Amino acid sequence: MKSIALWFWNIKLHNKIFLVLLFGALFGTLFNVSSYKIKVTYKEQGEEKSAIIERWDLVEFVYQASGGVQAVFGKDDQLKILSHFQNFSRDQKQNYGILVRWENPDGSIRQELYQRIIDLQKVKTIAVAIKPIGTLFIRLLTFIAIPLVLASLIVGASSLGNIGIVGKIGAKMIIFYICLIAIAITIGLTFANVIKPGEKLAQDAREKLLVEFAPNIKTKISENIDLDVINTIVNIVPTNPISALANAEMLQIVFFALIVGITLTMIRKEKSEPVIRFFDGFSELMIRMVGIIMKLAPLGVFALISATVGEFGFDILQTLFWYALTLIIGLAFHQFIILGSLVKVFSGMNPVRFFKGIRNVMLIAFTSSSSAATLPVNMKSCEENLGVPKKITSFVLPLGATINMDGTSMYQAVAAVFIAQVYGIELHLSEQLIILLTALLASIGTAPVPGVGIIMLIIVLRSVNIPEEGIALIMGIDRFLDMCRTVVNTSGDAAVATAIAKSEGVLEITNEK
Ligand code: ASP
Repeated sequence: MKSIALWFWNIKLHNKIFLVLLFGALFGTLFNVSSYKIKVTYKEQGEEKSAIIERWDLVEFVYQASGGVQAVFGKDDQLKILSHFQNFSRDQKQNYGILVRWENPDGSIRQELYQRIIDLQKVKTIAVAIKPIGTLFIRLLTFIAIPLVLASLIVGASSLGNIGIVGKIGAKMIIFYICLIAIAITIGLTFANVIKPGEKLAQDAREKLLVEFAPNIKTKISENIDLDVINTIVNIVPTNPISALANAEMLQIVFFALIVGITLTMIRKEKSEPVIRFFDGFSELMIRMVGIIMKLAPLGVFALISATVGEFGFDILQTLFWYALTLIIGLAFHQFIILGSLVKVFSGMNPVRFFKGIRNVMLIAFTSSSSAATLPVNMKSCEENLGVPKKITSFVLPLGATINMDGTSMYQAVAAVFIAQVYGIELHLSEQLIILLTALLASIGTAPVPGVGIIMLIIVLRSVNIPEEGIALIMGIDRFLDMCRTVVNTSGDAAVATAIAKSEGVLEITNEK
């Protein structure tokens, strides 16, 4: 045992993370949250109590005052029961109780009444209970992202020297990003049209999903999201840089840091130098901090994966198998073939070396589902393993994390076609082109945090009149696919960073550590 621990301690960080990813998934599977248990918290004689109900045959919501039955659910309806309760207003919750019935093998009935319910929840297992350790790890990475971007971009821009160079790099970057997103969407549309996952979804599964997840999507649909391109562009200029920092408005921060960096080259050296040196030291400090925090990665990754797998209902993977498969094949194609070719052709780099260099990036993106949390790791890996200088990473990666979402855009295209197929809506070429355009804009507008892609999907659905309620179909599997698409989102940024560094003649070929 001791020698295993010692061996584990001594292996490389990415191997450690990879191993805990596997063990975490196994642990989560073993301690999967049961779909046949519910923890009920209720009030009895003024005292708060809780009980666990298991393997019920029938659950009835009853109105306490009259005893009237308000809703009835069967034994496979855990999710429906929970979302039915969540949709109650505060007052309603107080006024309802649940009556649980079991049918004994001899045909007799046993029943239990829980009055004045305060809460209904799934029963947490150890795999889910350790989630806060993972959340802590992600929060540590996320808090580095904003100061790191600010400091390193100020230094980067001031070393680029003038607006002309910034503009040239910026233009190249935008062209790369837009082309990559368009390619990703085209791949997604092609696979979805060829595999036709929507036609493979059974009718009863479709109805079950629509009923089970409908309450969860109400709030998402009611969010007023619109694509206002002009407004988005105007909003890049912050009125108050401090509030931009406080609200993690990445585009605004990048804009501010660029202006500061460029203007620093226009003032007297004795004035500009201390400022640049301060930010240089500050960004060095942040990068060092990423290294320290990454030492916690094995713990954090284990906790996050075990909680995600522990909460995951595996039935849904079976139900949505073809949809998930279509997207995963598309993502893998983009990740390895398209990005691999990009680094080969534009960066002159062996793709194997590239993917080795961003191993940690892919692992953290997968576990965190957040491009923002992965950004500090991406900057560190690109600089240390791929030889991209700081002045390029500090510019290209934060912008990439915000606007370049190849995985998310492909997901939006596949999901839109899938939902249309389920509803039997035929999408003509012109409509598929509209999907391409809106998915491109929607993915740019997607914030680099978990689960936003599905909200922005509503814009894509609206653009071609696919019923928005359709997102209920794919909701249950979204977290898993979010993990996969975030890997592609972050890898795309790294690939473009190497290509731009090469085109500027500053890509240093280092030996990967
Ligand atoms: N989680 C994704 C990211 O951070 C965004 C999304 O697709 O929801 O890149």
